[in-house]
Amino acid sequence: MKLNGGEKNNMNPDQINQLFQVQRNNRYQVRRSSAAHRIEKLKKMKGLILKKKSKIEAALTADFGKSPVETELTEIMPVISMINYTCKHLKKWMKPHKVSGGPLFFGTKCMVSYESKGNVLVISPWNYPFQLAMYPLLTAYSAGNTVILKPSEFTPETNKILIELLGEVFTTDEVAVVEGEVEASQALLDLAFDHIFFTGSTPVGKIVMEKASKHLAGVSLELGGKSPAIIAKDFDLKVAAQRIVWGKFVNSGQTCVAPDYVLVEKSREEELVKLIVENIKLFYNEQFEMNQDYCQIITPRHAKRLQELIADSKSRGAKIVFGGHLFGNNKHEPTIIQNLDFNHKIMQEEIFGPLLPIIAVDSNKDMVKIINDMDNPLAMYLFTNSKEVLEYFQANTTSGGFSVNETLLHVGHSGLIFGGAGKSGIGRYHGFEGFAELSNQRSVLIRKFDTKMSYFYPPYTDKKKKIIDFLIEKFHYLF
Ligand code: NAD
Repeated sequence: MKLNGGEKNNMNPDQINQLFQVQRNNRYQVRRSSAAHRIEKLKKMKGLILKKKSKIEAALTADFGKSPVETELTEIMPVISMINYTCKHLKKWMKPHKVSGGPLFFGTKCMVSYESKGNVLVISPWNYPFQLAMYPLLTAYSAGNTVILKPSEFTPETNKILIELLGEVFTTDEVAVVEGEVEASQALLDLAFDHIFFTGSTPVGKIVMEKASKHLAGVSLELGGKSPAIIAKDFDLKVAAQRIVWGKFVNSGQTCVAPDYVLVEKSREEELVKLIVENIKLFYNEQFEMNQDYCQIITPRHAKRLQELIADSKSRGAKIVFGGHLFGNNKHEPTIIQNLDFNHKIMQEEIFGPLLPIIAVDSNKDMVKIINDMDNPLAMYLFTNSKEVLEYFQANTTSGGFSVNETLLHVGHSGLIFGGAGKSGIGRYHGFEGFAELSNQRSVLIRKFDTKMSYFYPPYTDKKKKIIDFLIEKFHYLF
């Protein structure tokens, strides 16, 4: 069975169930595939992605006006480097990892065997529709699982190219795509997958976890949150402003790890705002409406939500120092907001768009308090050259990622784990941890020769007790 590129893969619940059964019947065949076989498929996918790069770029432009360069940087490159990294290490990852033990294990071989979980469901969001579908899907396949992908309903053109590429590399009993709206997701979530890898919002993540509990499926939840950018006293504002503007306005702020708000010392607030505005103008030449480097908000409904956040803050006394406008239905101007309070909606939910609140504070202690009064963020960006300041923030806060003097870059490293903490997510992927996350980590013990352990079986005589007492005293441990 092959995936049919170009046609919509909408299915009713019966068809979805049939597809699931087909993959269920094939799960041990995929598990038994060798590292070489999986690598061959990954390399084929890489070749196709490179060959059809322009088509992928055009699809994202059609879906939400994303610039081809941004697609190359933030969608294609991470997937290609993930494939390279996995191909380099997969053989080693798939080998059992030996574990040594105490005297009791003399004569045995103990190891952790990384075996596939079986059938994996990947649910992906619209904001990086190529990367966030391909990355977990290829990770799950590399770990020997069959995969059904449910991409976002808001990116139909990207879904078409995903179906085309996947159809050229996999059969549907290995990897399949089910398109559709929330109903399709719900029908999939009713099935007994072994693992659900979900990327999306925290409220939907909770629904996914509840559904997974019915079958006790494993879950990886890659969610969002309010990721702060913190500028310490010692750091050059010019450099920080430039890096924050890039991290915030790439993909028009629709990035799970985008700096959500900035914390800066009161005395440096005005200088920072000036530099941020300068950088926005430099990057986008103040031509936001027609600027092809600056993408749209995914739907008019999402754009309206951003306008409502601005209106709420304005009505409570916030100052819009730059931007604030919506052009047409879905091109939103980069917007800088000051004088905010924590009861404004914009400070209570993930912004997920090009609005940047600047919060002025008195001390590092105040910054930590603000961060810790909110849910754990997915990422934290600290700008400092001071070791003490770095240690202070790292020791007193919790987040999925912690990036110093940079924004977003940590996500691009194929070997550096990625995931949230608390409400920003459960589970990790990227690199070996991604492979491990989607594997059944099976403990294996093999007795190689008999050490007469059976001597200690009941009845527990005094003599046996004395020997065990001696062993514990002599070795302090037996295991
Ligand atoms: P979303 O939660 O609305 O949708 C994600 C997926 O879930 C889509 O495929 C959608 O069809 C499906 N879905 C929506 N409602 C559902 C329901 N009731 N039941 C079952 N499935 C449902 O998220 P989104 O708007 O596509 O993406 C934005 C969110 O994703 C933001 O919060 C962002 O921070 C987060 N995100 C996180 C990461 C990460 O890696 N941690 C990456 C990108 C986006």
